[in-house]
Amino acid sequence: MTKSKATKQFKKEPSTQKKINTQPNSKPTVRKSIATVEIDLRKPETHRIQIKIKHDKKRWPGLIQFPVWSPGSYMVREYSQHVSHMKGASKINKNTWRPYREANQISFEVYGFDRIVQTNYIDNKIAILVGSALLPLLHGPFEIILQLPKSWSVLGSALNFKATGSNSYKAKVRDDDHWIDCPIVTAKKNHGGTKKFLVGKIPHTFTWVGSEPSVPIDKIIADTKKICQRTIKMFGSAPFKQYNYLIDFAPGFYGGLEHRNSQLSQFDPDVLGDSTNYEAFMGLLAHEYFHAWNVKAIRPERLGPFNYLEENYTEDLWFAEGITSYFDEMIPLDCGISTQESVNKARLKDVNILKDGNPGHLRRSVAESSFDAWICLYHRNEDWLNRDVSYYVKGAQIAWCWDARLQKLTKKKWSLEKLMKEIYREYGITAEEPLATAAPGFTRKDLLLFCEKTTGQRHNFVEEWVNSTKPLPWREAAKFFNLHWEEKVHDIFHHQFGFGLNEEKGKLRATIVFNGTTAEKAGLAPKDEVIAVDDIRVTNKAQAEAAVKRSQTKVRWLVARAGRVFELTLKSKKHAGLGVEQIPANTKSAL
Ligand SMILES: [Zn+2]
Repeated sequence: MTKSKATKQFKKEPSTQKKINTQPNSKPTVRKSIATVEIDLRKPETHRIQIKIKHDKKRWPGLIQFPVWSPGSYMVREYSQHVSHMKGASKINKNTWRPYREANQISFEVYGFDRIVQTNYIDNKIAILVGSALLPLLHGPFEIILQLPKSWSVLGSALNFKATGSNSYKAKVRDDDHWIDCPIVTAKKNHGGTKKFLVGKIPHTFTWVGSEPSVPIDKIIADTKKICQRTIKMFGSAPFKQYNYLIDFAPGFYGGLEHRNSQLSQFDPDVLGDSTNYEAFMGLLAHEYFHAWNVKAIRPERLGPFNYLEENYTEDLWFAEGITSYFDEMIPLDCGISTQESVNKARLKDVNILKDGNPGHLRRSVAESSFDAWICLYHRNEDWLNRDVSYYVKGAQIAWCWDARLQKLTKKKWSLEKLMKEIYREYGITAEEPLATAAPGFTRKDLLLFCEKTTGQRHNFVEEWVNSTKPLPWREAAKFFNLHWEEKVHDIFHHQFGFGLNEEKGKLRATIVFNGTTAEKAGLAPKDEVIAVDDIRVTNKAQAEAAVKRSQTKVRWLVARAGRVFELTLKSKKHAGLGVEQIPANTKSAL
């Protein structure tokens, strides 16, 4: 689409939009609990959780089915593999049991020792409980009784737990969606803590478990609060009445999962003293917090209500993850937590990934990549970059280009930030609304039509970027935001031969072999070990680079694969491998 075609004006109609009602006048209907669930963590050293579910009716209705995935992480994880010792029901397929006749109670055991944010983890000091990985679907409101080991005193969750004595806690759960959306962290005394703070009038709780962070927790909380204030200011209001940060400080770990009024995030506590790592940690917390609006309140139509028993397909994860990735950098920048330089680096990193290291972006659109997340992004292999594109990376670049284009067309009257606020007012639901009865999520067609009506600008350029494999107009965005750049050889192996090289346990190995390159034609394969270049033994990248620089246009590579050694001749030719780098004369781009 050319620029001139994008300037057709639409009548601005923002005043007709509905307002998010965060404090409904009518009380939500309280439905009677249909079951009591006992979750017993009193033998944490076994990494096993004992579950007992008592149905309040005379007998268990229907089948007992366990979810296979957690919303926000688009991968079938087959949670029922961790279930054992089922009593009161017989198994009929991988995740389904049939209760015995007249049975009104079942009990079973769940193993949890995988320290990621999408499943259960329990050891003798901490536990992380993830709803979809712990209980079957109960199809109604229920009550939880959580029994903790004696010396455990840290407990965090968006569920409203009440102590009932003997280190036992009770909470009411509205429905399966509510349970699956409320992970729980708990820990032994001195292996975590809880602090509370207000953002405006909204209570926020920060609960951490695991190792002590290497920067003061009060600094982390003070910076977190700034991000909360800025995000709420951006959207005008919050879709929740209270919010819970649940943080697992686990050395060597990184990850996060969003929920409607909480987040479960993991970060390495030992590296926070380094400013780049600290910015990454704050970016992670900002990202998951932003998701409370974008993907939980404003959601693509297929993402809530969910079918927990199979894949839920959507073409719009570029919006959920890309826009969120863009603002998780812009918001900490605006709070003074990160610098313009690091944000510029992040923007150019995305440019480099797409332009240089991810030829798959010329083959698949972000709509396709989003749809296939279940089998592609979440199942990456050595060839993934040749045939797929990350909807995070390209989605964030779409957000950047969209922001620049919108500001340029409207002479800064509209920005993506301002537009997101209107999108939230139109499509947002609150954390208190049951998903089963909430307004449906957006379709892309309606969303873009709404953007056109609101800003008075055609938005067919966004549709084209989402559906097309053409490179995005990133140069236009860089120019608009005064980001100056130059092209440089970033990777000599990629640039001259078309493959990636990595050092791994004292060995040099090819990582990716790009399609249509010298390396591919010569027969180099991913994971090949590189032993020598032109008869010179090489054991690290610097030696290999020096050997390549000394050689002629034809370079002999001695490689090993599957127990055999052989020589390949690679012709040096100009491939990709030209990264872009920021150069000075940059001025701060406004959020
Ligand atoms: Zn995300």
